Amino acid sequence: MIIVMGVSGTGKSTIGQLLAKELSIPFYDGDDFHPKENIRKLASGLPLTDEDRQPWLLTLSACIKDWESAGGAVLACSALKKKYRDTLTTIPENQLTIIHLSGSYDLIKQRLETRKGHFLNPSILESQFENLEEPKEALLVNIDQSPQKILQEILSKMNKKTAFGIIGLGVMGQNLAINMANNGVKLSVFNRHVAGKEEGIARDFVSKHPELGIQGFDDLSQFVESIAPPRNILLMVQAGAAVDATIEELTPLLEPDDLIIDGGNSNYLDTNRRDRTLVQHDINFIGTGISGGEEGARKGPSIMPGGSRTAYNRIAPFLENIAAKDANGKACCTYVGPEGSGHFIKMVHNGIEYAEMQLLAEVYELMRHGLGMLPVEMAKTLEGWRTKGLDSYLLEITINILRKEENGELLLDKILDAAAQKGTGGWSTEAAIRLGAPLNTISDAVMARNISAQKEVRLLANELYGSIKQTVPTGQEEFIPALMEAYAAARIINHAVGFDMMKEASKQYHWDLNFSEIARIWTNGCIIRSELMSAAVNYFKDTDRLLLHPAVVKSLSDQQANLAHVIGKGIASGFPLPVLSSAMNFFLGYVNGQSSANLLQAQRDYFGAHTYKRIDRPVTESFHTDWI
Ligand code: NAP
Repeated sequence: MIIVMGVSGTGKSTIGQLLAKELSIPFYDGDDFHPKENIRKLASGLPLTDEDRQPWLLTLSACIKDWESAGGAVLACSALKKKYRDTLTTIPENQLTIIHLSGSYDLIKQRLETRKGHFLNPSILESQFENLEEPKEALLVNIDQSPQKILQEILSKMNKKTAFGIIGLGVMGQNLAINMANNGVKLSVFNRHVAGKEEGIARDFVSKHPELGIQGFDDLSQFVESIAPPRNILLMVQAGAAVDATIEELTPLLEPDDLIIDGGNSNYLDTNRRDRTLVQHDINFIGTGISGGEEGARKGPSIMPGGSRTAYNRIAPFLENIAAKDANGKACCTYVGPEGSGHFIKMVHNGIEYAEMQLLAEVYELMRHGLGMLPVEMAKTLEGWRTKGLDSYLLEITINILRKEENGELLLDKILDAAAQKGTGGWSTEAAIRLGAPLNTISDAVMARNISAQKEVRLLANELYGSIKQTVPTGQEEFIPALMEAYAAARIINHAVGFDMMKEASKQYHWDLNFSEIARIWTNGCIIRSELMSAAVNYFKDTDRLLLHPAVVKSLSDQQANLAHVIGKGIASGFPLPVLSSAMNFFLGYVNGQSSANLLQAQRDYFGAHTYKRIDRPVTESFHTDWI
């Protein structure tokens, strides 16, 4: 809804009509809605009193509501005083643009004196200038130019506001900004200002990419002002305190219905909390996982948004446009579910990634040190695995790493064997404990990193015990095919572990997650994209539990003996295989219809009177025995 306002003679009707035509919406002249008495008064040169205006303003206000819900309109109306505008505009501010046509008294007087066929007496002009209260919220346009130029100025001022804002111009923020701008989104960007350290980052970024037409700010309120309401603002700042600090600073500058999207790797519990807090300020919130690293952000990441579905629908075109595309050309972006569900599944994604990486590290160690293979041989063998249903992004990069030399030597051999981590794997483990869900492979991958990081103590222990690693006592020809099968089996189990935990979260938090869709958005643009993930899209159409799918039952039944064989030989030869063996333990526990937990229950009841259930009695009943 657009109101073109100003004193009489500024050309409100002419400009309003041009604007309406340009925007293909109807035009209305406020004067046409005056009651007869007002028209008579005006024609006889008498100014209208506020009482005269009131019924007219109320009629227009009702019309504005109707026009707005019918798709908008342009209204020419003097609306000189703030209280008139307040009466007129009961629709939300973000649905309204006010354009103030402004000119000097002399210019307008001259125009009115030459005007014909208009009922307004030019002598009223003076009182109009007296009544005019300059609106702060309006786009100001000077009428001292041709109607066409006035129209152009209005259009460019109206379009000046951008459609999307990004806060945080680190690795991810910059690349997402480039991706969005390349996809035609009008963008504002902001980076914090830290005197002497972080100055003019946004403006520098913008001036490095002039072709993208991005607006850069290091003043937060100017940044917010530059975005068209209702605003969509993506935070790409460090997870944790920085997100809270940024939201705290941002919230007072926002208006109801604006939307904050946290695209960092935030903990889902923080996202739940922020979601609850922002709703109280009428601010929409989306917490989204974004995977694919720097390159993904630039060329197409996998995006996992959770939070308000209405808010998601509003920004879906932006996110789906920049996301990677699956094999059918559909965006690797979907509405995940309420609250922190988007960040939850991103956390599990990273957990699966941890275990996938560790599995490759274990395969590498067995090949390199157990079988004594050269890096080029390993690369060649693994290249072969890519054609046997095991292709994945992580396998591909591992092969490239095995081929990367520095001064004629393998670069890998120069890298310190102490793994770092940023926490998402560990958060998965914490979440599993919170949910009471098994998370064997992922937790063991985290623990493997933790042990690796204790380099000093490992060296000390190595001196005391000596190296216990020996050659795996089987030939390559026999061991490599078994290793491939073991790797394939452990991968399926690892994916099942991750998805099963999401199922548990979905049940406990009432998120109604769609696992086939989650697998689909992980088929491209993210670190764990793989042939297996593509197959999982279909598996999850038939079942919510990967290990119960008939195709998986068939392949795992064949592969599990090789998994056991490889673990047995590998561990007996002194190689730590935390995730291969964790996968095996999970599998054996999973398929074990009668576990040994009856003994645990008996022990618990023995020392703590914790009671137990009986297989020959209803589960609603509990029993305690005096064991001595
Ligand atoms: P980055 O390069 O370190 O950039 C971090 C950004 O956060 C910078 O703009 C930084 O501003 C800003 N920031 C840090 N502390 C702040 C504070 N207290 N207040 C306001 N702003 C603050 O990080 P990144 O790699 O772009 O990652 C951003 C988020 O995306 C993180 O949550 C990360 O986990 C997640 N993520 C990263 C990747 C990846 O591959 N890098 C992939 C997926 C998700 P200054 O420049 O002023 O310090």
